[in-house]
Amino acid sequence: MSKNRVYEMYINGEFISKNETIPVINPADKKIISYIPKGTEEDVNIAVNAAFEAQKSWEKLPAIQRASYLKKIAQKIRDNADMLANTITEEQGKLLDLALVEVNFTADYLDYMAEWARRYEGEIIQSDRPNENIFLFKLPIGVAAGILPWNFPFFLIARKLAPALVTGNTIVIKPSSETPNNAFEFAKLVDEIDLPKGVFNLVSGTGSEVGNTLAGNEKVGIISFTGSVPVGVKIMETAAKNVTKVSLELGGKAPAIVMADANIDLAVEAIKNSRVINNGQVCNCAERVYVHKSIEKEFTQKLIESMKEVTYGDPLKEEVAMGPLINQAAISHVQSLVDSAKEAGATIALGGEPSSRVDGFYYEPTVITNVKQDMRIIKEEIFGPVLPVVTFETFDEAIEMANDSEFGLTSSIYTQNIDLAMRACKEIKFGETYINRENFEAMQGFHAGWRKSGIGGADGKHGLEEFLQTKVVYLQYDMNKQQ
Ligand code: NAD
Repeated sequence: MSKNRVYEMYINGEFISKNETIPVINPADKKIISYIPKGTEEDVNIAVNAAFEAQKSWEKLPAIQRASYLKKIAQKIRDNADMLANTITEEQGKLLDLALVEVNFTADYLDYMAEWARRYEGEIIQSDRPNENIFLFKLPIGVAAGILPWNFPFFLIARKLAPALVTGNTIVIKPSSETPNNAFEFAKLVDEIDLPKGVFNLVSGTGSEVGNTLAGNEKVGIISFTGSVPVGVKIMETAAKNVTKVSLELGGKAPAIVMADANIDLAVEAIKNSRVINNGQVCNCAERVYVHKSIEKEFTQKLIESMKEVTYGDPLKEEVAMGPLINQAAISHVQSLVDSAKEAGATIALGGEPSSRVDGFYYEPTVITNVKQDMRIIKEEIFGPVLPVVTFETFDEAIEMANDSEFGLTSSIYTQNIDLAMRACKEIKFGETYINRENFEAMQGFHAGWRKSGIGGADGKHGLEEFLQTKVVYLQYDMNKQQ
């Protein structure tokens, strides 16, 4: 990759540069790799106006024509997959293999959402009157704002743009300043197809200026945000002023329950994978383990062995299993939670420190035992390769502790018992439960957090419908009319 690129924003089909820029750092070696424009309130308002004007004719196109643009973008992505994957790895630190999975999944996601063009439907409802039809139309909301985090930065562009565009909305995207380069590369690819100007816009800059202005612009009809709870709350407050719809995908604190009858090897492998994928920085990562007292020893030993084998270092190297955390603040946050557990009496069974072996934001794979439910490490999102383990004696106790969280995104349970699995489906109060497998969602499912993990959701039919509003039309006709 060439170093120190300077990127430009993409507004109304034009590339826009700024004098003021923000540097982007490679977390694997802490070096500057590019500079991005520090957009302003004015840039956001120009982009929203462009999206607002473009939407008027965009919604009039048949959905299948809108979908054809998504397919063209998907093809561009596939043609440039290696460049995009390298861009993501360089700025985010995810393993190159996983970055390639993210890129290809993104292309598939665009194709998948394009397929909904001929499938989403309104309704005709029975009227109480003899000469009336009641129609429910599903119509676009208008301008969507997509505000993105840094952990799956490329996929999240599509998770917002694809359902928005196919349903007749236009969009303004604001990437995270930690990982914006892939979004700029995406904009260049979009510019190579004939997408009408203003349908997709990209504005970069700080959350407090660009993000906040987007969330508070009255021409924005829906804010689709993925990120932390505090920023989600701030966005709700800003959106409230204009009563703008919000769709929020926020943090998680996924419990993994391991019952006495679990296939222990499968549970260890799946929980470890769910913890170290993307260097421990996934909203649905396993964040806390509840293991039945009777298998604690065997499970914990195997988990420690398995985590010990997780190699880390340069994410471009094939032999490495884990890359760096995103920045120094992430290292400090993880360390503060590990220290708090230690101070509260937990045992650091493996790791527990940032790495001194490699130059980058690396944290050692960590397992903590003798953990109690009331410790901070069980309450707060860690977002790093750290697994605290708590024991339980009954199924009810495990469910009670799993549900005792302000978060409600994903969860998992390992058991061979169909009765317990069925009970878990209903009694684990989370938006997503994985049974006997690692945590990773499918595009045709529905990814939605309960409690402080969010409002609304993404993916599948229900995710598509987030970008539609329902209109009812009462059409009365004359039953006696003759030609
Ligand atoms: P963050 O909340 O710090 O930032 C997300 C985005 O919000 C960034 O683009 C930022 O610039 C912007 N922002 C900041 N302040 C703003 C404001 N006042 N108004 C508008 N926008 C503002 O989150 P992050 O650190 O980038 O991402 C990590 C978090 O995201 C974790 O909590 C993780 O669990 C969560 N996440 C959730 C999901 C999900 O699907 N539920 C997926 C990925 C990440």
